[in-house]
Amino acid sequence: MVTTRFAPSPNGLLHWGHAYSAIVAHDLAQAAGGRFLLRIEDIDGPRSRPELADEFRRDLEWLGLEWDEVLPQSARLASYQHAAEQLAAMGLLYPCTCTRKDIEAAGARPGPEGLVYPGTCKGKSVDPSLPAAMRLDVVKALTITGALTWDDNLAGAQAADPLTLGDVVLVRKDLPASYHLAATLDDAADGVTLVTRGQDLFPATHVHRLLQALLRLPVPRWHHHALLLDEAGQKLAKRRGSKALADHRKAGENGTQWADRLRMDQWPCGISLGST
Ligand code: GLU
Repeated sequence: MVTTRFAPSPNGLLHWGHAYSAIVAHDLAQAAGGRFLLRIEDIDGPRSRPELADEFRRDLEWLGLEWDEVLPQSARLASYQHAAEQLAAMGLLYPCTCTRKDIEAAGARPGPEGLVYPGTCKGKSVDPSLPAAMRLDVVKALTITGALTWDDNLAGAQAADPLTLGDVVLVRKDLPASYHLAATLDDAADGVTLVTRGQDLFPATHVHRLLQALLRLPVPRWHHHALLLDEAGQKLAKRRGSKALADHRKAGENGTQWADRLRMDQWPCGISLGST
């Protein structure tokens, strides 16, 4: 059965970009007679405000969407730890004590999601008194999996290129998983067959595909949709003044009408859809 999901992080209120993403995922499932899931990705430590999850549910209801809710990430920490232990037993993780400043100072190259870790701690013993994250040795991982491919509904067949993000963090200094590890495990556990999300997460999929191969997880398809952009042509963000769905909802506007307009590519004032 086609299963899609919307997986917001309760770090701030939802905006039109989230609404669009949720509608795309919902409608793809509905068109296939499948399931649409809501998963709250609430392990982003201090930035996470669990009380926002209720606002999210009200927003989705306001948009006229129906969903099945699955466990939030905070209820799945043991599964993340278990997978990290498996990868560690395969010799694929190494501790890294670098701070953001250390990575900048090491002359790291810019990548699609900020600086790419230059491998400073790889093969070294680190000071055990310092907090350490665990990074994936991507070169070594690829020697186990060999070349990998994945399929995107819009972009077509892809050759996985996990090196583009470098040795990503899989276990954070403060948490038993990073986004990459948690989202990959959750999608498998939730039976997601079509991972629907914004194009900004396209590079992350190369890493997720690698993790699926290493952990022998089922391989879904992906649907990376174009992003809604603000007047400056930038991705919508609460911090750049994008209005929250909750504001429109509380002002008594009609959410299902808004959802239908988004379906017809009629964007709220000042917003446009980026290129695919
Ligand atoms: N939790 C992520 C976010 O809010 C989405 C993750 C995903 O769709 O894979 O940006």
